Amino acid sequence: MKVDRIILRFVRIPLKFEFQNRWQRIRDWTKLIVELRSGDLVGYGECTAMETPYYSYETIDTAWWVITRWLAEPMLRCQFGHPAEVTEAFRLINGHHEGKAALECAFWDLWSRAGSLPLYQAVGGQRRPVRSGATVGIQDDLETALRLAGSAVEAGYERLKIKIKPGWDRELLAAVRAAFPRVTILGDANGAYGEGDIGWLAGLEKFAPIIIEQPFPAGAWTHFASLQARTCTPICLDESISGLEDLEQMIQLQAGRLVNLKIGRVGGIRDAIRIHDRCAEAGIPVFVGSKAEMGIGRWVNIALATLDNVRYPSDVPASDRYFVSEIVRDPVILSGPGLVEPLPGPGFGTEIDSANLSKYTVRSLSIPD
Ligand code: MG
Repeated sequence: MKVDRIILRFVRIPLKFEFQNRWQRIRDWTKLIVELRSGDLVGYGECTAMETPYYSYETIDTAWWVITRWLAEPMLRCQFGHPAEVTEAFRLINGHHEGKAALECAFWDLWSRAGSLPLYQAVGGQRRPVRSGATVGIQDDLETALRLAGSAVEAGYERLKIKIKPGWDRELLAAVRAAFPRVTILGDANGAYGEGDIGWLAGLEKFAPIIIEQPFPAGAWTHFASLQARTCTPICLDESISGLEDLEQMIQLQAGRLVNLKIGRVGGIRDAIRIHDRCAEAGIPVFVGSKAEMGIGRWVNIALATLDNVRYPSDVPASDRYFVSEIVRDPVILSGPGLVEPLPGPGFGTEIDSANLSKYTVRSLSIPD
């Protein structure tokens, strides 16, 4: 199968409420949407990179640049028999996982649609309900955090991800734990702590037995291993795992017990599946993470979350938890309390809402033009 045109779009949609993590307050979200054409067939992919270089050095601008300058040429030149071959075509280009994944995801969609195959089946999953978790960003006060956590639990979400940072952790987590004793809680630090905080973090389990996600920066392997050795609290790695080599490091150093699997961070669906499979072999459960994707990315995450070793609720809440509108005809909705389910249609399961895609597009480029 050969791609004959790539169309890139920056798409900006307002959020329903202001979201805050440890770096920024966000009122609207701009994502890079990739369209691939092959004859009459069309496939779409969503780049999961953010606008800012805080979570990772990659942004929607670096992805746009690397696709136009370096990735479009091999993408348009090569014949692909299967989507897993796309990553190979990019192998000489270092890093830039987000840009590579955006093209690769779009090709999985294109290829699946050509064969009338739902994406969940193409990736080796099966159609089943997927447990979804909700995220509570950093708030100005405890009361607001508890209120937001409460509304998520009421909607049926079985897992709460609470964003934490130094000074906004123990009291918050203990309060959420006490208010919702049966819900799985992850305190996600996005690398906000350092070596000097190992004792403090190990002590958190006395106040609030939870899972701690990415307490230290990505490469701080010895800190993760020291903390995991000092606490029964499972440590979950997110930013640290950008490929199989990182996972081997985690296993060898016993630097964590859970993996947050993100397609963009690891360079695409093929490598996400490989990491999922290696985790299964090593007895490490995973869940599928997200960076508040729009509909395309959200449905792709749900397809991946149907794999066997996705044993914790994933970051795949309903579209309307965040966005005022969607660019797909079928937004993600809950199919039961805290549950979402892949659609039976080919590719990611639904069609693009062309009117909304045009309405929210702020920049576009066709290659070749
Ligand atoms: Mg995280």
